[in-house]
Amino acid sequence: MSLLARKEEVEARVAAACKRSGRSGNEVKMIAVTKYVSLETTKSVLDVGLLHIGENRWQDVKPKWEALHERGTWHFIGHLQTNKVKDVIGKFAYIHSLDRISLAKELDKQAAAMGIVVNCLLQVNVSGEESKYGIAPEHFFHFATEVSGLKHIHITGLMTMAPYEMEADATRPVFRGLRELRDRLNERRIFPYEITELSMGMSGDFEVAIEEGATWVRLGTVLVGKEL
Ligand SMILES: *Cc1c(COP(=O)(O)O)cnc(C)c1O
Repeated sequence: MSLLARKEEVEARVAAACKRSGRSGNEVKMIAVTKYVSLETTKSVLDVGLLHIGENRWQDVKPKWEALHERGTWHFIGHLQTNKVKDVIGKFAYIHSLDRISLAKELDKQAAAMGIVVNCLLQVNVSGEESKYGIAPEHFFHFATEVSGLKHIHITGLMTMAPYEMEADATRPVFRGLRELRDRLNERRIFPYEITELSMGMSGDFEVAIEEGATWVRLGTVLVGKEL
């Protein structure tokens, strides 16, 4: 199947999930995750009009970013080690994986030195299973409060991953849990602005995530394919 055909098929599934849950289609944006494909294919992804690109490792994305960064909006979706902040800061419009205070402080420090504000999402380990990354829900509000004091970080939204082996139907409470955390964060006014985005849903579970309020779905296999 061609990239364009896959894009149209996935867009139709996104639209159907929006309709089922009474949401308007333009509330949901697709991030094309290109980590399994070459530079050439990443170029084709941009050519078909998928302009949000997700990648999870700097050493892999580097050649793609260097060749193509002016053509799209780049999202860093993978675990970020503190000593790798210098590689990604200023290059990615959004960092989806802020999950440690040490990382927040390093991002804030380097953003301050560059005179920028870095957009981040707070990654939460809602399911409490498997994934070793993400803030535990019981520490979430404390963590958010600490981050709210860092002037060079702007929190755009929250991000989570459902356990890989989970059936799509079983992921619903995970995604609902993230939405509820976002709503409570806004109710408590921990940040002086509204937090809107929910980055949740991957190839196997994006329709459930949309039904539960996802605003960004991160799609690799189903949208971009897998070749590496
Ligand atoms: C790889 C990856 C994705 C995309 O995975 P698919 O299941 O292929 O859609 C989404 N989010 C994160 C954080 C990833 O690492």
